[in-house]
Formats: sequence, C-alpha cells, structure tokens
Amino acid sequence: MGYARYNIMNRPNEENVFWYSLKKPAQAKKLSGTINADVVVIGGGMAGLSCAQKLREHNLSVVLLEKDFCGAGASGKTSGFITPDSEIELSALLANHGPEKAKRIWEFVIAGVSAIRKNIEDYNIDCDYQVQDSLFIANNKTGLKYVKEQYEARKELGYESTLYSKDGLPEIIGSMGYVGAVRYPDTFGMNSYLYCQAMREILIKNGVQIFEETPAVNITNSSVITPEGRVEAKHVIVAGDRFIPDMGVLKKEIYHVQTFLGISKPLSDENAKKIFKSDKMMAWDTDLIYNYFRVTGNNRVLLGGGDLLYTYAHSISNNTKRFKKRLSSYFHKKFPDVPFELEYIWPGMLGVSKDLLPVMGYGPDNKTSNIWYLGAATGLPWANALGHYAADKIISGRNELDGDFSWKRKFIIGPKIQTLISTPVTYAISHGIAEHL
Ligand SMILES: Cc1cc2nc3c(=O)[nH]c(=O)nc-3n(C[C@H](O)[C@H](O)[C@H](O)COP(=O)(O)OP(=O)(O)OC[C@H]3O[C@@H](n4cnc5c(N)ncnc54)[C@H](O)[C@@H]3O)c2cc1C
Repeated sequence: MGYARYNIMNRPNEENVFWYSLKKPAQAKKLSGTINADVVVIGGGMAGLSCAQKLREHNLSVVLLEKDFCGAGASGKTSGFITPDSEIELSALLANHGPEKAKRIWEFVIAGVSAIRKNIEDYNIDCDYQVQDSLFIANNKTGLKYVKEQYEARKELGYESTLYSKDGLPEIIGSMGYVGAVRYPDTFGMNSYLYCQAMREILIKNGVQIFEETPAVNITNSSVITPEGRVEAKHVIVAGDRFIPDMGVLKKEIYHVQTFLGISKPLSDENAKKIFKSDKMMAWDTDLIYNYFRVTGNNRVLLGGGDLLYTYAHSISNNTKRFKKRLSSYFHKKFPDVPFELEYIWPGMLGVSKDLLPVMGYGPDNKTSNIWYLGAATGLPWANALGHYAADKIISGRNELDGDFSWKRKFIIGPKIQTLISTPVTYAISHGIAEHL
C-alpha cells in the first residue's frame, strides 16, 4: 500500500469539508523505529478511538496508528446525528431477525450513544453538543407505512416514541411536504470532527501513543509495519471501516456508500423556527436513499442525501454541484418560506455490509487469531460500540455478538453471484431487501 503525505489541499474534496475550516487537525507525530505495546489499534476514527480508550482504562499499553489524522475518515465528515438509527431501522431489524436479536443489537448501539454522551459530559468536550430528538419523517403514503412500522417496533420492544399524523405535524415542523412522523428521545447532535480531535488529546493525556500520517502498510501476526517503523504487539485491532478491503481482506463483505452533506449559512432565529417550531430535531425521511437534516447550535442547516447513481459508485465523486442543486431543491420544496443557501458541500463514504449490520471477526485466513477486524459500522454510535466490543474481547473475552456480526454470516447475495452482477448492484439490491422487504 502506498500513501501520500497528508495535505488537505492535495486531497480532492477535502477543502470543501466545513468542519476542517473551523479547526485544523492537530500536528501529527509520526512513528519511526520499533515500539512495543499490548495492543496496536489501526484507525483513528470513532471505532479506533473508542477501542483505544477502553483498553487504556484497563491499563493496557496501547498504540494507535492513523494514516492521516484522527477523524480523517468518515468519522470527521458527518452530520453528527447521534442516534441508534442509521442505515437500518429498528423495524427492519425486528422483521429480519426477530425480537430477541433485534433487542440485543439495539441495546448494543444504544450503549454507543451513551458512551459518546458520557465522554462529552465527563470531559466537557466543545463539539456543539445539541440535545435533539430524532424524527423519522414520511414523504408519502408508502413512507407513512415505514414510519408506523417503526413506531410499532419501538412499542413492541419497549422503546418510547410518539407518532404524528399529517394533522399533528404542524405542531413540530414547518413543512407541508410530509405526511407523518415518529419521534423519539435520548438522542443528540454534535460536531463529530471536533469530538474526534478532542478524544485524540484526551487519549494522549491518558497514555495512549498516537501516531498520525502513519499508515499500517503490512500486518502480520505480531507486528504492524509502517513506512518508517514497526509496532510489536500481542493484539492487533483493525478499525479501518471502509478501508479494510484496501488491506486485502473482506473484499466481498465490506463495501461503501457515498453520501453528500451540505451546510447552509446561519439562519436568523426567526427563520430557524420556521423549520422546527419549538424543539430542534434530527430528521431523516423515508426515501430508500434518504435525505437528512438538522439545525446546528448557531442555526446552520445541515442537509444531506444522495442518489442511486452516486451512492454505490466505486470511487469518491467531486460532483458537488449536482448535489448542491438537488439538496437545495429538496429543501426549497419542503420549506419554501425559509431563505436558505448552502455554503459548503462535501462528499463522504462510509463502510457498509450487505445486510447493513457491522462486520467483525478474526482475519479471514484463520491463521491470524490475534488480528481482529472491525468494519461496516454504518453510524458513529455503532462504531463506538464496536470499538468497545473489540476492547472487551481482549480484556474479558466478550463474545455474545460474534455470530451476529461475523463476516462468515449468510448474505442474501453470496460471493459468486456478486462477482457476476458486480459489487455496486449487489449492494444496492441487498440494501433494498434489508430495509424494506
Ligand atoms: C458525509 C457523512 C455523514 C455521516 N453522518 C452520520 C451521522 O450523522 N451520524 C452517524 O452516526 N453516522 C454518520 N455517518 C457514518 C459514520 O461516519 C461512520 O459509520 C463512522 O464514522 C465509522 O467510523 P469508523 O471509525 O469505523 O471509520 P472511519 O472514521 O472511516 O475510521 C477509519 C480510519 O482508519 C484510517 N485508516 C484506514 N486505513 C488505514 C491504514 N492502513 N493505516 C492507518 N490508518 C488507516 C482512516 O484514515 C480512518 O481515519 C456519516 C458518514 C458520512 C461520510
């Protein structure tokens, strides 16, 4: 694997990421020479940072290697919805896996939400922490069916929520463009780039050795080789999400989806209240490739979405113009009275599996029993919880979800058909089935 030195201006699209304009990534320290540790964690996104944190809290010596900077992957580009829902709804989990497994998985991701909140509160992290309910909102009659299913699923599994019919929506949202919604509490928004950069500082203070601009170029049973050094460790955790296939493993099991995220110029309080009447919320709609929006602490609208062509594209696209137009038109249609202009728009990719559950396990060659892979998180709370899970595996042999998230589990489209019909088509069909059939 060959990596260029990190330089924002040399990385296509990165100058468009609004979050990076607020604060530059901290100065990197690169690894040179050989060091030893109990555990080496590869990847400085939400999963790697949470894993390193937990391991260190249990007094293990930890080295974290990041090829760019902490938060350079998906974790630092997000809209910062911290909710257990991400690519897969609870209703879909219930339908696909039954109540016991759905609840087990949901509790797992709720723990991720709580752990992120706890860090923000305990360390007083300055990351635009906004306590906001989640709002899953129906565009049309079919969407209303999904919203009701979500409400029913939450009720069945004992989670609080409120169902809104079209008549009830004007109480909470200033749009005539939706026909119903389900709302639920215990969620929040944040600036996830600032969170990652803050966690980096906290971990360094607590004794984790973090090396950035330091890609892992070769991983063997007991060593991880970097361009100018190596780490000898008893355990290797690869928290690389969508980059894992670049390392030559799990190529069929992990792919990516692309989404575009824009941020508007700040709105006046009066105009912001035309979107959410009293409480700001984090909303996403019922389209298969959904649109999502929330209002930040200083009244900027974060608005994201994609389309079929770009969501499953092989490589990251620079076609921000197309999505500026598409997202702006969506917003103007839904909220015609709100003067709104997108100031920044950027693309981002996140790792996914075919059934939208995470992928984890020991190396596929079965010889590498101390190398544990974590990927396809599909959401920050999921990534956080996966990082904790990997740490617990080392600390106490945790294993209750090994089967649920194993890369060996059965997928509706297996590797042979995937080769025939191509990976993008395989993932698009599989996601349609996982979410709606
Ligand atoms: C535009 C956008 C908006 C999103 N919005 C939300 C949202 O609102 N809420 C939500 O919950 N989720 C959101 N997501 C999804 C979420 O960002 C991801 O699911 C999550 O961040 C995955 O975390 P991770 O740590 O597993 O992966 P990443 O953050 O991608 O971390 C992997 C890290 O590994 C590093 N790496 C890769 N290869 C190597 C190597 N060889 N050596 C060293 N380091 C390496 C990468 O540089 C990267 O930093 C969004 C994603 C995008 C792109």
